[in-house]
Amino acid sequence: MLILGIETSCDETSVAIVRNGREIVSNVIFSQDKLHRPFGGVVPEIACRAHLESIIGIIHCAITEAEVKCTDIDAIAVVNSPGLIGSLLIGVTAAKTLSMAFNIPLIAVHHLHAHIYANNLEHDAIPYPAVSLVVSGGHTTLFLSERETQHVVLGETIDDAAGEAFDKVAKILGLGYPGGSVIDQLAKQGNRKAIPFPRAYLGKDSLDFSFSGLKTAVLYHVKGQDQNRSQTSLKNTMDIADISASFQEAVIDVLVHKTVAASKIHHARSILIGGGVAANSRLREKFQEISREIRLPVYCPSRELCTDNAAMVAGLAYWKYSEGNISDLRMEANPS
Ligand code: ATP
Ligand code: MG
Ligand code: FE
Repeated sequence: MLILGIETSCDETSVAIVRNGREIVSNVIFSQDKLHRPFGGVVPEIACRAHLESIIGIIHCAITEAEVKCTDIDAIAVVNSPGLIGSLLIGVTAAKTLSMAFNIPLIAVHHLHAHIYANNLEHDAIPYPAVSLVVSGGHTTLFLSERETQHVVLGETIDDAAGEAFDKVAKILGLGYPGGSVIDQLAKQGNRKAIPFPRAYLGKDSLDFSFSGLKTAVLYHVKGQDQNRSQTSLKNTMDIADISASFQEAVIDVLVHKTVAASKIHHARSILIGGGVAANSRLREKFQEISREIRLPVYCPSRELCTDNAAMVAGLAYWKYSEGNISDLRMEANPS
């Protein structure tokens, strides 16, 4: 079964074709990073317009790369929630149009469940129940996953998402947008123990997260340095590398701690990580270390499947279709 998936929930326009929920036949991703960079974050109106301008070309590209005919496609999948409403609407409208034109089923997919599913694209027979951690630009959420399509929220961020914290700290350090991967690279030259940034555990049994205090601590640290030393001090690469490494370690310590705690409470048989921040080298390293320690398999998608892509959408849709979970033209985009 061939499913064409569409992802336009934020600032990536992506279209993929996936066979039987596993084999990625094509996965075209157009990132709008360059368009949003001058503004230091995603501008919803710009995102929406860019999706509108590129979606038809990207659908065409995904079909051409897959070397299939339109009539070979068996169903259309699309992310309808959560995300920016204007962005979601472009994908949802394109998907409805294709579904109607080719008279094939329409399948609505939850963006965060798709991030978790990115693991299933590359790994066979994942043991369930799993505890899944989605860490991205807009979300930091822990789920109890019973199977590919069944996820219950165990905890989430009460303020900033982990990726948002990475992006805001990058901005404070003058590293541009989006800053996650830049911090990842700089941190490799820094000392993780240089600055004791706070870790917010929010009470003994809490599975929620908070990263805004950490971001503020970085801001005060940088301001303090500016006042104490010459203007050029923050330009010192070692300072920036140490701040990056210490900040990153504080984020990852909390993510790992809570994910492991959730896996114990819920007797999970595996841990699944997904979302843009799951591309982070230190996070991946730390989860592999902990996996050996607690003797639980930890799965993480390859880097290109961590950030937004439509392959994870088309893949998950196969299981929803198998369970008879099909939408119709009344399906709506839902930002929350
Ligand atoms: P959401 O999935 O919550 O709707 P989104 O779709 O914008 O948000 P993703 O594409 O999944 O998010 O992830 C983007 C985020 O991942 C950005 O905040 C970016 O800084 C962060 N990110 C990407 N690579 C890395 C990395 N190597 N280290 C840390 N963060 C990273
Ligand atoms: Mg993005
Ligand atoms: Fe995402």
